[in-house]
Amino acid sequence: MSKDKPSLGQVMMFRSKDFIEWSDEALAVVLKRSPVGGALDLVLKDFFNWATRNSLYPLHFGIMCCALEMAVASAPRFDAQRMGVIYRSTPRQCDILLVNGPVSKKLKPALRRLYDQMPAPKWVIAMGECAISGGPFYDSYNVVKGVDQFIPVDIYIPGCPARPEALIDAFLKLQKQIKEEKRGLLTGK
Ligand code: SF4
Repeated sequence: MSKDKPSLGQVMMFRSKDFIEWSDEALAVVLKRSPVGGALDLVLKDFFNWATRNSLYPLHFGIMCCALEMAVASAPRFDAQRMGVIYRSTPRQCDILLVNGPVSKKLKPALRRLYDQMPAPKWVIAMGECAISGGPFYDSYNVVKGVDQFIPVDIYIPGCPARPEALIDAFLKLQKQIKEEKRGLLTGK
């Protein structure tokens, strides 16, 4: 067999996951560099922006007591779903990392990995004093003094605990921010 020709085994190694990653990158480069991406963004920007801000998918991830307030915010009384906020359990399907509770030094790399696994565009909400600064545990040897030490945060919700109404207000503020950002989905500009 010629040295240049890949064997059948090598061809089979190009699995669907690799293909999706490769085609995603190739498509992103083509769309960013060619006028096609810019033109599509120009036409579809407003629609994508409207769809993005009205279908926010936070990661269903809770650390401590504030997680109960997060759960109540989507229960019938407060009903966050009416604004298109639907919790998902995998970072691959999410665009909001909603951090609530104290982040320990042991949890920090896992939380960073979850953030990295979320596809762009994505936003971060720090809910409650623990997520903002370490809260009552700020001087503990094992608590990170705020999630913004290692992940960029867009919205801060003060309180111990942060109330469900405050979380809903944060979702509304984020919707406003997304509307003002007006990011193109294909070119990111
Ligand atoms: S901010 Fe207060 S209520 Fe929220 S997780 Fe920390 S200690 Fe619990």
